[in-house]
Amino acid sequence: MYIVLLGAPGAGKGTQASRMAEQIGLAHVASGDLFREALSNRTELGLLAKSYMDRGALVPDEVTIRMIFERVALPDCAKGVILDGFPRTIAQAEALDRTLAGQGKNIDLVLYIKVSEDELLSRLGGRWLCRRCQAPYHIKSAPPKVAGVCDVCGGELYQRTDDSMETARNRLVVYFDQTAPLIEYYQTKGKLVEVDGEQEIEAVTRELVDVVRARQVQK
Ligand code: ADP
Ligand code: AMP
Repeated sequence: MYIVLLGAPGAGKGTQASRMAEQIGLAHVASGDLFREALSNRTELGLLAKSYMDRGALVPDEVTIRMIFERVALPDCAKGVILDGFPRTIAQAEALDRTLAGQGKNIDLVLYIKVSEDELLSRLGGRWLCRRCQAPYHIKSAPPKVAGVCDVCGGELYQRTDDSMETARNRLVVYFDQTAPLIEYYQTKGKLVEVDGEQEIEAVTRELVDVVRARQVQK
């Protein structure tokens, strides 16, 4: 199964993708996490990505597409993948469609997590992440048991520099300009299912997992 999680920065894609991956048994591939991992390893890709991420801009399609295709070719993705943060442009979506078609596969579902702009900004402003395992937390809605420490692995929590109010606002502008057109792109193909992302985290997961299970039965 190929599942795309679509939604603005802060909509809850990472939170939901890791919960869904655990419940459904698919790999979770997050383009932002891959760029941050490359940066922490000081690779050429990471340093290139940083120059875009710092401004809240998108990394060029060609580089992003190559990185994702190399990742989904790994054995842990053989049963299927939940894509989080990719595709983010029409060109990326078309490249994904073409590559999957070449392998006799296609995208099964696009789950659009809808959240209002005010809520997105408050989520990004209060987000903390584990430096080691990337688990997301929020000062109000999803606090860790011990301040500054990851519940999952004990790693140190940090705030992303691109979650600052100024860069977060810029990322939302980029989202509405370059990524939101994907809603119609996938709607036209009959693949889009919209979910209310302003419910409690558990309720959103329940709804998403139900949609996936219903689609698995149809396959
Ligand atoms: P994305 O991957 O789409 O950028 P995240 O999953 O990192 O978003 O979530 C953004 C922030 O919002 C995190 O701090 C997370 O803990 C919090 N969050 C996620 N889902 C919800 C929700 N349903 N209600 C309240 N807060 C949420
Ligand atoms: P995220 O962790 O999904 O919020 O992504 C963080 C940053 O990584 C974005 O602001 C972009 O600079 C970059 N990025 C992540 N995914 C993509 C993508 N599919 N296309 C281009 N840039 C991306």
